[in-house]
Amino acid sequence: MIQEGENSLDRVIQINVEMKELEAQLDQLRKELSWLRENCAHEFEKKEYIQKCLKCQLIESLQW
Ligand SMILES: [Zn+2]
Repeated sequence: MIQEGENSLDRVIQINVEMKELEAQLDQLRKELSWLRENCAHEFEKKEYIQKCLKCQLIESLQW
């Protein structure tokens, strides 16, 4: 069953590569979202304890 072992090692390597790519993609998306929120002219919808921007979905707590 050496073949199976090799196959699972290949799969592990492949998963690690994919995870690195997805982490890089996630990082990029977080930066883009953060940039959009920084440049958003927020329009908040107030709820009981939070307010949520209708444009960028930024949520701010109203509790102190
Ligand atoms: Zn906003």
